[in-house]
Amino acid sequence: MEIQRCQSPRSDTPKLIIRDRSGQIRGNLSPTPKLDELRGVSRSTGEPLDRLDVSESGIQCVECGSKVTDRFGSKPSGDIICWDCVEGTLAETDQRGVTSTIDPTKAVLSSSSLHHKNLCNYVINVATGCSHGCKFCYVPSTPNIKMRKDMLKDKADVDNGQEEWGSYLLYRDDLPERLSRNLERKRTWDSTPDGRGVVMISSGTDCYQDRRAAQITRGCVIELVKHEKPVRILTRSPAMVRDLDVFKAANGLVTVGSSIPCLDDEIVQSIEPGAPAPTTRLNALEKVSNAGVPVYVSMSPTYPTQDRTDLRNLLSTFKERLDPDVVFHETINPRGGNFQMTIQAAREAGQNELADELAKLRDRDHWVEYSKNQLLAVREIGEDLDLPVHLWPDKKFVKYVDDHKEFFRKERNKEDSPESYPKPVPTT
Ligand code: SF4
Ligand SMILES: [Zn+2]
Repeated sequence: MEIQRCQSPRSDTPKLIIRDRSGQIRGNLSPTPKLDELRGVSRSTGEPLDRLDVSESGIQCVECGSKVTDRFGSKPSGDIICWDCVEGTLAETDQRGVTSTIDPTKAVLSSSSLHHKNLCNYVINVATGCSHGCKFCYVPSTPNIKMRKDMLKDKADVDNGQEEWGSYLLYRDDLPERLSRNLERKRTWDSTPDGRGVVMISSGTDCYQDRRAAQITRGCVIELVKHEKPVRILTRSPAMVRDLDVFKAANGLVTVGSSIPCLDDEIVQSIEPGAPAPTTRLNALEKVSNAGVPVYVSMSPTYPTQDRTDLRNLLSTFKERLDPDVVFHETINPRGGNFQMTIQAAREAGQNELADELAKLRDRDHWVEYSKNQLLAVREIGEDLDLPVHLWPDKKFVKYVDDHKEFFRKERNKEDSPESYPKPVPTT
């Protein structure tokens, strides 16, 4: 679908009309459309895999009036601005205390080492930062955040990307348009046996955490599917159901998963303060599964307070309600500055048992024992329930564990996955 600019002889104001590929007029936009309008087109026209082509639209920047061409951004009000004006955009802080603005990052599609976890070969991050602010999140300790120190200070006045994790969010509004150009030009595509050429959205933020992020995500999925690239959605937000039309129309090219470590909402939310409750994630994923879209669960990270019965109940629920292609499982990792913050958050939320048990994991032998017991229990219960399970043993854990060392080493390095997604592309 394309936007065309029309000058009516009866009016001074040009009109923006939306035309589909057959030349039929499908609607119109205001002369300076807001981001919501632009992103809403594929939903309103009922064509899930059609995104608006804005390259020839002549949409004008609300700040300086120049035509929006190569890159664009949006003000918190949703008004579209050109890239020159993005530089002068000020960050805004909402009532949750989350400061948001535009992300100047050029990255579109990044190669990823997550093929080691059988997840993907590429990742797309729709934003920098994440308003969910999970205390154990490893993202703020990765180069993704550390290398962007100056940018975060400059754009959102962030002094410490790790300590302030959860309070800043920089959107990549024009990512679908840039992705489209990138995919048009791309001649090679990485596809290792363990990554299967899959693109994951997102590994460094939650791609459905709010409406603006969700709109970017929808545009990216549409572009990838149009180019026949397999997509893995990973989110803690039930809002992914809003894109069921796109997932269904993708005909098996999209798998949708959610992180569900435990179904006790209060416990989970004590250390995932900004994320929707896990029971809402389960309900949403059930809707996706019932619609015939492949689903998976990331049971990550499970807590030391969960015993074998808890793990069995959780896995049985996944089996009965989701029938997922795979359940990925990992335990919590006590390394890094964020672990102390995790314990503190659990304690402040009155989850003293969780805080005490987490604190014990600082002892390496204790951590190895807990990880081993949970990983083995999940594998056994999975076999018992006929539920495909894929374990993610930590590298350091494999180094220190004595029992079953070879099993864990193999599990960590294996290239095949119980997941039958994506369907192999026939070679001609
Ligand atoms: S949702 Fe994911 S990216 Fe966001 S804070 Fe939680 S773990 Fe990190
Ligand atoms: Zn401008």
